[in-house]
Amino acid sequence: MKERMEQVEQIGRLKREKNAIVLAHNYERAEVQDIAEFVGDSLELARIAMDTDADIIIFCGVNFMAETAAILNPDKKVVIPDVCAICPMAQQLPQDVLRAAMREHPDADVVLYVNTLAESKALADCICTSANAPEIVRAMDTPTVLFGPDRNLAYYAQKGTSKMIVPVPEHGNCPSHHQITLEDLLKAKDAHPRAKIMAHPECIPEVQDRADYLASTSGMVKISKEVEDEEFLIGTEIGLLHRLEKEAPDKRFYPLSTTAVCPQMKMCTLENIEAALEHEKPEVVLSPEIMDAARKPIERMLALSH
Ligand code: SF4
Repeated sequence: MKERMEQVEQIGRLKREKNAIVLAHNYERAEVQDIAEFVGDSLELARIAMDTDADIIIFCGVNFMAETAAILNPDKKVVIPDVCAICPMAQQLPQDVLRAAMREHPDADVVLYVNTLAESKALADCICTSANAPEIVRAMDTPTVLFGPDRNLAYYAQKGTSKMIVPVPEHGNCPSHHQITLEDLLKAKDAHPRAKIMAHPECIPEVQDRADYLASTSGMVKISKEVEDEEFLIGTEIGLLHRLEKEAPDKRFYPLSTTAVCPQMKMCTLENIEAALEHEKPEVVLSPEIMDAARKPIERMLALSH
């Protein structure tokens, strides 16, 4: 315990000395969330990164998130404590796979989830998040839209539009959300019959269709504070429960599945955050060409969503 306290104090000292801040995603370990200046979803964190006066941003999340923060902040140093924190879903859509789909559908606009590699973002017409995917798809100019890499989010994005959505790759998914089954949901509901179900649009369609609330992680935090319901079953990565319990302490939260754990999101630790602050690396480095090309579709999304 004493060692943990000393580590937290040392991280605080280094942050002050170096004018650094720590940003943590909602799925990070509880102790990492607790030492962060801000906790949020990937887009919220990228926006915070744009507003900060800090010289160094320690980004506790996976590769595509730190890349997005770096793309939007080319004059700041963005450091990711563990370079092995690589999102398996983002890896499912490398540039060559996307280029092949674009050749097959030359007249389709390309909308990519923010959970995508920078090299692929550089080819997109617009980026979207789990909060604004339907709105962004509706705003595209073409009747057919190539959408990747999450097929479950494509199902959600299809709502409210007559556009034809072509998922690329065909079966892209987030393993942590895709493994939450309808059976998990029914069992959890049996155990907590009064609880409302909040599910993330990365969940399979059968789970999405049974949810009382379908929302991004930050949307779930907002809903839990605003509605009168007192108990919730949470259909997303279980790291979010820590933030929900902190921000809505009078409500009760249960996971839809206790195995919805993203190992890559648990790779940031107090040890590697301290080392990242001390040595100011590993820094996120992208080519200026990729940065410039990837920034355009992100900025288009920021302009389209309010
Ligand atoms: S939770 Fe899913 S989308 Fe998020 S980093 Fe993990 S694998 Fe990628």
